[in-house]
Amino acid sequence: MEKVRVRFAPSPTGPLHMGGVRTALYNYLFARRHGGDFILRIEDTDRTRYVPGAVDYIREALEWAGIRPDEGYGYGGDRGPYRQSERTDIYRQYVQQLIDSGKAYYAFDTPEELEALRQEAASRGEVFTYGHRNRMQLQNSLALGPEETRRRLEAGMPYVVRFKVEPGRRLRIRDLVRGEVEVDTSELDDKVLLKSDGMPTYHLANIVDDHLMGITHVIRGEEWLPSLPLHVLLYEAFGWEPPRFAHLPLILKPKGKGKLSKRDGELGGFPVFPLKWKDPETGREWAGYREEGYLPQAFVNMLALLGWNPGDEREIFTLDELVETFDLDRVHKSGARFDPDKAVWFQHRHFQRLPDEQILELIRPVAEEGLGRPLTEAELELTRRVLPLVRERLIFPRDYWTWASYFYIPPHEYAPKAVKKQWKTATPELMRQVRAFLAETEPWTASRIKENLSEWITSRNLGFGKVLQPLRIALTGDLKGPDLFAMMEILGKDETLARIDRALEALG
Ligand code: GLU
Repeated sequence: MEKVRVRFAPSPTGPLHMGGVRTALYNYLFARRHGGDFILRIEDTDRTRYVPGAVDYIREALEWAGIRPDEGYGYGGDRGPYRQSERTDIYRQYVQQLIDSGKAYYAFDTPEELEALRQEAASRGEVFTYGHRNRMQLQNSLALGPEETRRRLEAGMPYVVRFKVEPGRRLRIRDLVRGEVEVDTSELDDKVLLKSDGMPTYHLANIVDDHLMGITHVIRGEEWLPSLPLHVLLYEAFGWEPPRFAHLPLILKPKGKGKLSKRDGELGGFPVFPLKWKDPETGREWAGYREEGYLPQAFVNMLALLGWNPGDEREIFTLDELVETFDLDRVHKSGARFDPDKAVWFQHRHFQRLPDEQILELIRPVAEEGLGRPLTEAELELTRRVLPLVRERLIFPRDYWTWASYFYIPPHEYAPKAVKKQWKTATPELMRQVRAFLAETEPWTASRIKENLSEWITSRNLGFGKVLQPLRIALTGDLKGPDLFAMMEILGKDETLARIDRALEALG
């Protein structure tokens, strides 16, 4: 069997959407799974839509997600250049081949003329298309004949090159995801292959490059499915064997109809881009999964299951496990609804799988930001001791500060709700007694504190909550927090007593 070669071919018209990353991911997984090559090609022939910074963004996003190309723009390879704007001579040569064999033709219709035709059709409630029904009435080499065509070309009149679609054929195309797709070529229009600025359109460049780069499988978004018949006809016109095709389902909004857009992200408070993006023109910023604290493995796992399933109940996969399991036959036909809560769920699961050392690396900057300065050696040690107490609650690194800030900074406020609920009239007196009792407790270990205090509480016939809840408020400023006794051990006796004093002062 021939070696699998697939490509991810983004257009640098802005930041890569998470749907784009999924396309890259499926290509990558398919290549790895079959021992093939994964190629990155930049499709930047539409100069009007080019956005500076987008190419770097694409590469950085793929690197972050661990979806590393084997070959392509910035990765080397012997079938380059891998940026289409550097290949214009190649396209011109191939378009000439189609003109010479009568499969494409020059068209001189000006944008104004075409616009007038469009409007005229619209006034009749129709849509203007350039094709077999009207091409002989328009300004092109088929209608004008060779003499006039040569004259116009020599006079330097602007032109485009259009593909000549022969009507009246039924095309049957197999798509690895969608099954058989059928089209009548009479329904197709004569698409532009070469624009008046000498640049190829997406269709031409895409076909020429996939052929020259030896692509065996084209795996891309469903929005390209309508172009498939044209692409197949182009392969045929060149006399080339077409690759196999797989069109991936859309990623749908969390609710309602339509595909997931950046606007949905804004409304729902979740990122739709892998990395933060600052629009170079408007200066607007868009959230990214990386900056929100998502682990790349969680992001990739979530994306993998958005349109594919492993055929069993498994949901948690590393990239390597995905490589072992992924194949195109389990890619869904219907749209995949994005669920932002599920994204958080994947993050939680992957975060919990990290070893302590790795979590420490991630939460250290969080604590440093909370404190506004680097951690001291002692605080680093403190972090190490606190982590086991709070790690289960962590979904994102930033959660560490929510659950652990009071280990570093004494509470300077006491949550009014908590106080109202648990700090009663009898509490101050009780806390004074507890303080005195704790002052005598030795050694200061969680188990000893727990044992002594429990005994003290039972011997006085007090409820545990009556004592422990206000104590918690004194230590953390609220009712949340991990095991109270473990916390006291880590805070140390002096700090524990000092915090009780401070609470008594503040709350009476
Ligand atoms: N440049 C196209 C895009 O941005 C590539 C489509 C394809 O993979 O053929 O999606």
